[in-house]
Amino acid sequence: MRRIALLGSTGSIGVQALDVVRSTAGLEVVALSAHSRWEELLEQARVHKVSRVAISDPQAADAARAAWDGEVLCGPEALAHLITGAAPDLVCNAIVGSAGLAATVVTLSEGIDLALANKESLVVGGELVTELAAATGARLLPVDSEHSALHQLIASEKGQPPGTIERLTLTASGGPFRGRSREELRAVTVEQALDHPTWRMGGKISIDSATLMNKGLEVIEAHQLFGTAYSAIDVVVHPQSIVHAMISLTDGSSLAHLGHPDMRVPIAYALQWPERVDLDVRPLDLTAVGALTFEAVDENAFPCLGLALAAGKEGGTAPCVLNAANEVAVAAFLDRRCSFLEIAEVIEGTLGAVAIEQIYSFETLIESDRAARDEAASRVAALA
Ligand code: NDP
Ligand code: MG
Repeated sequence: MRRIALLGSTGSIGVQALDVVRSTAGLEVVALSAHSRWEELLEQARVHKVSRVAISDPQAADAARAAWDGEVLCGPEALAHLITGAAPDLVCNAIVGSAGLAATVVTLSEGIDLALANKESLVVGGELVTELAAATGARLLPVDSEHSALHQLIASEKGQPPGTIERLTLTASGGPFRGRSREELRAVTVEQALDHPTWRMGGKISIDSATLMNKGLEVIEAHQLFGTAYSAIDVVVHPQSIVHAMISLTDGSSLAHLGHPDMRVPIAYALQWPERVDLDVRPLDLTAVGALTFEAVDENAFPCLGLALAAGKEGGTAPCVLNAANEVAVAAFLDRRCSFLEIAEVIEGTLGAVAIEQIYSFETLIESDRAARDEAASRVAALA
């Protein structure tokens, strides 16, 4: 049995990860965590016979304690205690936002393998995270579908001389606003932005997909995971979301990874690696799919991708500032305190105002994250 600690278990990825645990053999859940949805969390704990959970919202933790005789951890060290106490073989980090960084750090510091959905950890933590994994020997297994695809494609070229893989391509669905001009994006609503054409996901990543910030975060994630130069990573819009990623080789071959959009596939790959398991998913019938189409990103309508690439190339704390400003702006948009186009304006303004520094330690990142959040929040407040 592979013992799994699942963090962010009440979210979109978390619920699908539990589905994978129930529908495939050899996995056992030993710890669960959520932010505030304690009732859903306790139900999951009951079904999976888990006796210890972490809840980050103090009121929700109190409510859970009153309703349950298992152990409820809360407070700044809760996730660290949950992970070290459960001593899992694998942690699946499906927390949303830079709140997931601490759990990534604890997991890798303990030398525990990490199935990482929380891309913000890699965007914010960058080399510190990958160096930590290298130092302890913990494996980083991507859950993000494009990176899972790349992990598989790159593994297929193992044994070839370095440099055989020349380029990586990430596909983007284009989100609900693909094809719209900047002008047409001025008055789009939260409901329209949340209505993703191919994937069903949590609120934050759905908005990131609509602005294309998600693809920007993913380029940084790919750079960190695979050590590929930014100049060798391409993004192409592919509305059907059937091709997830592609690698291009020196001999002119390009290898692509295909499948219907279903996050259980990359989740199962990460949880069961290196085994391939039998998963009940819709088979890919290319004649039924018909056409696969590809187009370039409209950088004028979707400036967030360019902002993310620039921050990635700048390095240091720039991706951390970008991510924090994005989290503040997306929360404001969901709260109807800023418009869709103002998300990019808040991020760009914050990147211009907050000093970008070299990263010496995780404390640098925590300070930079805080400074960027304060700056972005005051920019949102000034919009009204
Ligand atoms: P959701 O918003 O659906 O779920 C987030 C989870 O994290 C919930 O369990 C939530 O608890 C918990 N959480 C929220 N805030 C905190 C916090 N401050 N501290 C601790 N836990 C917290 O997100 P998704 O499942 O969509 O996404 C999770 C991660 O996976 C993100 O990084 C996203 O980018 C990535 N990802 C998601 C994909 C998808 O298809 N959804 C695809 C690829 C990557 P509660 O329910 O109590 O609020
Ligand atoms: Mg993705």
